[in-house]
Amino acid sequence: MNITDYRLHRVHLPLREPIGDSQVRFTDHWITVVELHCDNGLRGIGFECQQGLPTARLVSLQEEFEYTIWPSLKQAEPLGLAMRVERPRGGNVGPGFKTVPVETALWDLVAKQAGLPLYEFLGGTNPKVRAYGSTLDFRLDDNLFRTKLERMQRYGFSAFKVKVGHPDIAWDLRRLQLVRDVVGCEVDLMIDANEAWSVKEAVKRLHAYRAAGHDIYWVEDPITREDYQGYARLCSELDFTRINTGEYLGISGKRKLLTSGAVDVLNIHNSICEGRFVAALAGEFGIPVSLGNTLLELGVHLAASLPECLYLEYSDLIWNDLAADPVRIEQGFAWAPQRPGHGIELDREKLAFYSHPD
Ligand SMILES: [Mg+2]
Repeated sequence: MNITDYRLHRVHLPLREPIGDSQVRFTDHWITVVELHCDNGLRGIGFECQQGLPTARLVSLQEEFEYTIWPSLKQAEPLGLAMRVERPRGGNVGPGFKTVPVETALWDLVAKQAGLPLYEFLGGTNPKVRAYGSTLDFRLDDNLFRTKLERMQRYGFSAFKVKVGHPDIAWDLRRLQLVRDVVGCEVDLMIDANEAWSVKEAVKRLHAYRAAGHDIYWVEDPITREDYQGYARLCSELDFTRINTGEYLGISGKRKLLTSGAVDVLNIHNSICEGRFVAALAGEFGIPVSLGNTLLELGVHLAASLPECLYLEYSDLIWNDLAADPVRIEQGFAWAPQRPGHGIELDREKLAFYSHPD
């Protein structure tokens, strides 16, 4: 099987409601879809999302792809490309061909060729992954927040994550109480401050939430991403909760979190190669991982293939409207599709509807 052609799509998705955190607010998703076509008729699909800022026009995306990526893919065998390990390089060397959408399309192709769902191709045996409802709610008023929580309860989650980090601690406390009022006290409650605090402020806030009766399963990104000493301090001082971080760091930063004793749950994301490598490294330190939001819930395959993924994030976003048959979320679990490949085929009418070449 060799790659013979490609096609790109530029997609614009206006969100149902603003999403955001203590630092940002977004109203749109800009998505790039990469299709790789092979000489045996198989087609691999990959995608990536850009928040807020529009992507370049389709003609520019195509020019860049043709120049920087296509020469490495043209007539190549997808399995060799998917498996390739490269030395990280800096300076003027570019990022190489393995962007997230290209890598996704390659794994889709090789699993399709093997006739296996991707999570099985990656060694997983169970398609079911525990998921949590993540409301991305900081920019919603209390009424909209309540409505969103109620809407997401239909998925049967046993855990929810909400945003905190308002300058006024009373705001955070009110929102935590609102969550408990809607979803009850039986579910795990995670909070995400998106780097809102100093170490001292984080300690003060977590004690205050606890004093108000809120048991926090994990606190995500309480302080700035590269404060490894600060994270190590939080891990030892806040022994009644877990510190989840790593979302904003590459492999080197994640490694440093692990070697610094600065993380209780390591947050991983898009790339299947990177995710597998980092999860194996985390295992060496006895640290579990969690999987953040991934476009069209692709991450369910990675999560289902890992030995210790605590939770998969699910935010019920409009991007699932692009899927012919979206990843199923039921009774608090995400189910990896059983079709060969990643099984997330795009609805061609929807793709045309949301396409935005210029
Ligand atoms: Mg986060």
